[in-house]
Amino acid sequence: MDFTKGELVQDFDAKRKKNEIELDDTQRCIVLRYAELHLKGKNKSFFEKKLISNIKLALANYECKLLVSRGRYEIVDFNIEDERLILYELSFIFGLHSFSVASCCKSNLNDICKTALGMYNNKNGTFKLKTNRADKSYPLSSYEISSSVGNHILQNASGSKVDLHYPKTVLNVDVRENGKVFVFTETINGAGGMPYGTAGKGLLLLSGGIDSPVAGIQVAKRGLELFAVHFWSYPYTSESAKQKVLSLVKIMSNYCPKMQLCVVSFTEIQEAIRDFCEDSYMITIIRRCMMMIAQKLAVKFGAQCIVTGESLGQVASQTLESINVTNNSIQDIPVLRPLIGYDKEEIISLAKKIGTYNTSILPYEDCCNVFHPKNPVTKPTRERAMLNQNKIPNLQQLIENAVNNAESI
Ligand code: ATP
Ligand code: MG
Repeated sequence: MDFTKGELVQDFDAKRKKNEIELDDTQRCIVLRYAELHLKGKNKSFFEKKLISNIKLALANYECKLLVSRGRYEIVDFNIEDERLILYELSFIFGLHSFSVASCCKSNLNDICKTALGMYNNKNGTFKLKTNRADKSYPLSSYEISSSVGNHILQNASGSKVDLHYPKTVLNVDVRENGKVFVFTETINGAGGMPYGTAGKGLLLLSGGIDSPVAGIQVAKRGLELFAVHFWSYPYTSESAKQKVLSLVKIMSNYCPKMQLCVVSFTEIQEAIRDFCEDSYMITIIRRCMMMIAQKLAVKFGAQCIVTGESLGQVASQTLESINVTNNSIQDIPVLRPLIGYDKEEIISLAKKIGTYNTSILPYEDCCNVFHPKNPVTKPTRERAMLNQNKIPNLQQLIENAVNNAESI
């Protein structure tokens, strides 16, 4: 199912904990907070540079400026009509902890009070102040700022009351070290994790199923840049199956900018496996061939690892014995299986969250289900896998051909 961007933005809006606050346009900005980077010590600037370039890339189509200061970034000078779209784009950027539409003012108490009152148009409502003071040299404590601003609001917004437990509005005051103060009422969760592209590059084995897109996003969230490979067995798997994988890549590209897909024509190898191998070992040999091709593609495209959507015990090819026999078809490259300990239900809920689920359940076949044996082995051995594999004439040549003829999209 394809959604238009408008629908997706509406859905995103609905999930936000919005309230009725109107901000003064002249001081309006979007404050961004990053996740985890403060733990990075001397390497922090490497991570920050990447995060900043990812933000700029995501907002390249909008008129706006990004200001960078210690601990906070700020988006300013944007068209107010673009605000929702910008917030929507920001929600996909790994490395951002959260963001808020805010009013920005100078750090003297009068300005803070005025700005907070300007923002608070919730007459007869309840509110609470929450102050964060990054500038430790600021002459007032957080408590003193909160109570001064709170008193100003009580005196000037008739009928309003303080409620520390269940306030209708939480007014946040964030006093920064550069003499700026942000006042805001809403905090939107970011995608979290580490900036995309800071953890090296991985080759994702992307089927059309539910699991592999989720697996990819899980490691992209830790900073791994992805490019995807799909094994396609035309005419046993259709043009629609390929289009479905393309749609998945498009959705994943929200999180993984410029993600590339490479389609490997797998028909010849699968037919050879069908013709020469024992039925029960077909899937085992298919998976070993996928891995051998994947490793060669990884070398070709400079990826340092392979990523799959396997989960322990999910199917015959994902028992510990099967994973072991799959693994030892290749050497010197790690295989990441981020979903290894996940239940299907957990994977489905992540797929829904990232937006791939409705595409993944479209009913197009995958090459793993072509010539599917009745009784696939659940405890394969390496020796018997090798015996079967060696029965295929010219397997190495078939693998080379598949790698050389892979189609980059
Ligand atoms: P699901 O289990 O939801 O059908 P899946 O993507 O996990 O989808 P499996 O048959 O369980 O499919 O395959 C295990 C893993 O092998 C996948 O997660 C994927 O990484 C890889 N894989 C399977 N088929 C393909 C394919 N046609 N192209 C690329 N990778 C594939
Ligand atoms: Mg699976």
